[in-house]
Amino acid sequence: MDRLSIFDIYKIGIGPSSSHTLGPWKAANDFARRIGNDCPDKIQIHLFGSLSKTGIGHATDIAVQMGLQGFDPTSFPVDKIEATIQNILEQRTLTVNNHSISFDPNMDIIFEPSSDPRHPNTLIFKAFKGSTLILDNCYFSVGGGFIEHEEDDPGQMRSVQLPFPIDSAVDLENHTANSGNSIAQIVFENEKCFQDSNAVFEQVDDIFHTMLASVYRGCCQDGILPGGLNVKRRAKRICQQLLEGADYESPEEWMELIRNSSPNFSSVTRWVSCFALAVNEENAAMGRIVTSPTNGAAGVIPAVLLYHYFFGDYKGVQDIRNFLFTSGEIGCIFKKKATISAAVGGCQAEIGVSSSMAAAGLTEVMGGSPQQVLMAAEIAMEHHLGLTCDPVGGLVQIPCIERNSMGAMKAITACKLALSSDPKDAIVNFDLVVKAMWDTAQEMNHKYKETSEGGLAFNLPVAFPNC
Ligand code: SF4
Repeated sequence: MDRLSIFDIYKIGIGPSSSHTLGPWKAANDFARRIGNDCPDKIQIHLFGSLSKTGIGHATDIAVQMGLQGFDPTSFPVDKIEATIQNILEQRTLTVNNHSISFDPNMDIIFEPSSDPRHPNTLIFKAFKGSTLILDNCYFSVGGGFIEHEEDDPGQMRSVQLPFPIDSAVDLENHTANSGNSIAQIVFENEKCFQDSNAVFEQVDDIFHTMLASVYRGCCQDGILPGGLNVKRRAKRICQQLLEGADYESPEEWMELIRNSSPNFSSVTRWVSCFALAVNEENAAMGRIVTSPTNGAAGVIPAVLLYHYFFGDYKGVQDIRNFLFTSGEIGCIFKKKATISAAVGGCQAEIGVSSSMAAAGLTEVMGGSPQQVLMAAEIAMEHHLGLTCDPVGGLVQIPCIERNSMGAMKAITACKLALSSDPKDAIVNFDLVVKAMWDTAQEMNHKYKETSEGGLAFNLPVAFPNC
């Protein structure tokens, strides 16, 4: 089985969707690389299945144009995206590998009415010289920003010799029992096989700071989110209510105010919701967020991590690292044994997985045993089984933004339940719930797998005729 790093699960990216924005952006980057200097006259992009049905709302069209121009989704300034896309539209020109190519986004990005039987998120790039097709490549955006090329050989997957290979909860439990290490220590030992320990710390700290920055930005912005649903941003308002109108002009001031507030049950639960909403409002506005494990679910882990950071028994930076090591490994198991793609498994694969990851991370830093960590992860997923994906208007806003708050609160509850329990009494275990999630994914009607053809998305067009 492929060896995943937690940094395959945690990726710095751009909203609003990992499978529909980040994945297609990376696929376009790859296609531009394959073109090299063999400059075509024309490029076409064909989007199939869920990418076609919800591609506009998920900014897939923008992502492929940015990717073909060679921009990096982890570092491109988000405030320049709109102008870049507008420029392509006005000039009818795309710049690929320093060559100008005639390109009309309205004609050359084709939203195919059909699906590709190989995967619900398929995209095909074609390059022409005159009327001759010189290159075509097919990609599958398989969730969480992962892409696969049609010619990828599964046998050629990255093979790294890990001291503690992990494909299941049983593996994790055995490694902790045999080595005496915590789950976070086991994961750290494995991560050192991908890069040296300083680089691991640097990357994990960078992930945390990007999460923190996305929460802060979300707490500073108000107004209406793009897309036409007229969804109002709420995080800033909730933040101001909680801070009783106190002003903040920097992240440091904002953090100091939160630390100095007097938390109670009501305010803490509102803060958790506020943090989650802030990230996903940023995500909906094509802001920079951490895919964790997807963009639609990017608010859950920062919300639970900041719950611990501001209101929990936070002991220092190692808590942040241990939280992210542990939660990242839970995400890896879901990716390997089930799915983290809503187009394959519905929202249980996004919010369900992120909630399960967050529950595990929180339990680890609250001193839970490995069995309690896995129990928390199991509980959080158990109560997301069957959760459908039905984004209204194909936008990652309703129900997505609020759903992050719900996932965060369930994660905290799962952690508290696990810490109060003896895992020996548990009847359902983590591996079993992963399998149940996968079975449910396979049997779920396609209407509830990011097609916007069922559920809320089907019923709300009455109120939103433009959807
Ligand atoms: S409903 Fe859930 S899975 Fe679907 S786009 Fe929204 S957050 Fe993602």
